[in-house]
Amino acid sequence: MQALWLEDKTLTLRDDVPVPSVPRGSALIQVLLAGICSTDLELVKGYYPYRGVPGHEFVGKVVKAPGRPSWMGQRVVGEINIACGMCQACRTGLRTHCEQRAVLGIVNHDGAFAEYVTLPLKNLHRVPRSIPDEAAVFTEPLAAALQIGHQVQLRPTDRVLIVGAGRLGQLVAQVLALTGCELQIVARHETQRALLGGRNITPTTEDAVPCQKMDVVVEATGSPRGFSLALQAVRPRGKIVLKSTYRGGVEVNFSPIVVNEITLVGSRCGPFASALRLLAGGVVDPTPLIVSRYPLSKALSAFEHASRPGVLKVLLEPTSLLE
Ligand SMILES: [Zn+2]
Ligand SMILES: [Zn+2]
Repeated sequence: MQALWLEDKTLTLRDDVPVPSVPRGSALIQVLLAGICSTDLELVKGYYPYRGVPGHEFVGKVVKAPGRPSWMGQRVVGEINIACGMCQACRTGLRTHCEQRAVLGIVNHDGAFAEYVTLPLKNLHRVPRSIPDEAAVFTEPLAAALQIGHQVQLRPTDRVLIVGAGRLGQLVAQVLALTGCELQIVARHETQRALLGGRNITPTTEDAVPCQKMDVVVEATGSPRGFSLALQAVRPRGKIVLKSTYRGGVEVNFSPIVVNEITLVGSRCGPFASALRLLAGGVVDPTPLIVSRYPLSKALSAFEHASRPGVLKVLLEPTSLLE
């Protein structure tokens, strides 16, 4: 099959990648649409030494499900952590922290920038008919945005700042706006600001970020610079939620964290069912984030496009009629 291949920090388009074999309890999924996210761009830079097919945001159609015919033809999205089900983390309900986990398109499991992908059935969620593919493909990052609500209590009276109005920051903004909090977001690019209108979200700039005023700050820039801005903005006893993963370390002066008694919260994958409810109800609409769609055969151009500053969501269409 055709697939994008990552090896030694180099992407190549291949036509000779075998269609994955489907163990019992898993499904073979034909990828309808897949989204390029910052994690994919960081993977290419060497954030994690992955070799294989990247891609973890997708919507697809089940074309094989050995022994489970009811799944056939279902339109699905998939949770990305493939857990062993037996380790201490799995047994205590922390499947996303499974000690032996593989992660779709990131760790030890070929991803969705391909014609087909395989996942365990228990990772899959059926997509309601009311959600078009273009919205369903955002389920994974939207779930990641919703994870913040699992970890930090947001009061309607809180002052909240999101640092970064990129792919993830935009979804975080739409989700946090639902709490009624006083919400500001640092947006560098005019295209990012334009999408924030009409949702009770106030765009701001790096220079206008207040000092020690915010109850909660979400760092979603995907760059080390975002952290120092977050630290500047958070009030004493406030919380910083970290959503970015990137290659390399960050130099941090811990003194203000100690002196101001700041809580740091790392935040990753979140609840798919909740994300699908928000999409089905139209409460969150991620589709304005889409800037372009490319057939899989043009995946290298798609990556180049996605890596330009300020560009939001670029989609890949593996079985496009455009090909
Ligand atoms: Zn992602
Ligand atoms: Zn496990």
